[in-house]
This record gives sequence, C-alpha cells and structure tokens, in this order.
Amino acid sequence: MIRSTEQYAAPVVDRPAAGGRSVSARPANARLVNAMSVDVEDYYQVSAFAGTIGRADWPSYPSRVEQNTRRILDLFAETNVRATFFMLGCLAERHPHLVREIVEQGHELASHGYSHYRVFEQTPAQFRDDVSTTKKILEDTGGVAVNGYRAASFSINRDTWWAFEVLAEAGHTYSSSVNPIQHDHYGVPDADRFSFRPNGSAFTEIPITTVEVLGRRLPCGGGGYFRLFPYQCWRWGLRQVNGSDGRAAVFYFHPWEIDPEQPRIAGASRRSQLRHYTNLKIMEAKLRRALTDFSWSRIDEVFLGDGRGDGRIGAVS
Ligand SMILES: [Zn+2]
Repeated sequence: MIRSTEQYAAPVVDRPAAGGRSVSARPANARLVNAMSVDVEDYYQVSAFAGTIGRADWPSYPSRVEQNTRRILDLFAETNVRATFFMLGCLAERHPHLVREIVEQGHELASHGYSHYRVFEQTPAQFRDDVSTTKKILEDTGGVAVNGYRAASFSINRDTWWAFEVLAEAGHTYSSSVNPIQHDHYGVPDADRFSFRPNGSAFTEIPITTVEVLGRRLPCGGGGYFRLFPYQCWRWGLRQVNGSDGRAAVFYFHPWEIDPEQPRIAGASRRSQLRHYTNLKIMEAKLRRALTDFSWSRIDEVFLGDGRGDGRIGAVS
C-alpha cells in the first residue's frame, strides 16, 4: 500500500471558529494520525517475571533486545512509520549504538526508567533519582532532549499521583503511564481516557487508549490484548476512537513480543506464561497490518505539536 506524505502532516489542527468556539470537522479524505510507541526492555525484564528473576540475575540471560529492536526499526522504515521508543536506562548503557540508531532514524527517544522498578516500589526521592539519572543517560547517549516518560507496568496510580510533579521537576514535559482500565497488575479505571493535565499543571499525561462499549471501557492500546484478541476487534475499536471519539490513540508493544524464539522462563505462574507467550508467532504480521491500516507518528508530534496536548481533531477550514 502506497501512502502519501500528506498522511503524515501535523495531526492536530485546531483553530477557534468565530466567537472563540472550536468546531470539529474533518476533511473527507483525511486520516487521523495515532501515536506508536515501543517499550524497550528484554524478555527477562518484564514485571510479570520479577518474582522469578531478580535484577542481579539479568546479566546471566542471553540478550535479545538489540536484534528485536532492529527488526522493529526495519519494520517501521519499511512502513514509513516514526514512533516513540521508551528505553530503559540500563539498556541504553549496554547498547548505546542502538540508542543512536533510534534517534538517527527519526524516532523519539523517551524514558522507561533505569531498571524497570514500578513507581509504587519507590519513594518519591528514589523515583526522582531514577528518572533524573535515566534522562541524563539517554540524553548523553542519544544527543537529543528527552521529554517523555512511561512508568514500568503503567504504575502511576492514585497512590503515586505525586510522580507527575517529580517528572515535571526533573524536566519531562509528558508521561504516558496511566492505563485507564481495570487490570490485576495496574490501571486507574476512573482516570480520564484522553490526555489531561494532572493537578492543573502544565505537565501532560497521555493515557493508553481504551474504547468505550456499552458504557464499559475495553483496552485498545496494544500490548498483550493486541496479541491475544482477533485483529478485527482491535481495528474496530481504534476506528471507534478515531471516528466516534474523534481522538488520536496511543499504541504500545515490546521488542520481545515479536520474538517467538526467546528462551522460556521456568518458574513463572501459568497466568504470566500464558500472557507472555501466546501468539508471539503472529504478532509481527498483526503489527504490519496495524501499521498500514492506520497512520502513525511519534507521541510528541501527535499530542504535543500544538502545545495543547490533547490530540483532538479540531476545526479545519
Ligand atoms: Zn516496561
């Protein structure tokens, strides 16, 4: 499928109509641009295996993150997609050339924290140290400003709402760390579905995308759900978000999700194993469909291009 560069034009066009009111309208042939993101971590670093594999054991596992991330870079180059890569600080130290390749290929470099501690496992002081250190490592390695942050396992919840203030103080301008659904490991089911300014600050939170069906929120932002459920269900959901809601979506996945050959982790719970290993073989083909069925770009371009940060389709004249 050949796509014109027009589809990659600035996604947010919002001009107040006469009288100061915004009018929502979309040219018939325009496609809304959604935000694509990758959480760069290796298969043995995921939170679901944290009870089985300690951080001290990480160096003993064969690393596969570099080859998997390269495949993703190739896939994005092939489909003409730019994305945001949320990278662990410890991986940036180990694979500095990978960080530079991500930047050189036009993607946004952002932070996933140093070593995947969830926010609620840290005190505010520890969190401040973690995000400041990681930001500096990424910026020194990539040679670009790092503005975005995604918490390990979407671990900003009502108990860790203070994290937004710490992130802003450390120089970040946005986070994409809230998953506004009910889930056994994470989620803030009553949070806004779309981007918001926590505590009325200038900082922006851009939650993972959900779709509302008969008053219920369902996940529509990627990850395990995208792998587990039929592609057509996800595509229907995203069309609802882009069409009925008139909003841009945020999608995420991990390098290990396109790697069916990764070593199996013994000792993890059946539930974790099921979530982690199901449909790894078909993930890349599914992703390829998603990349061509919708238009995508970096989070900063989709949501922060006009400084307003809500990703809404606005008035078009
Ligand atoms: Zn993660």
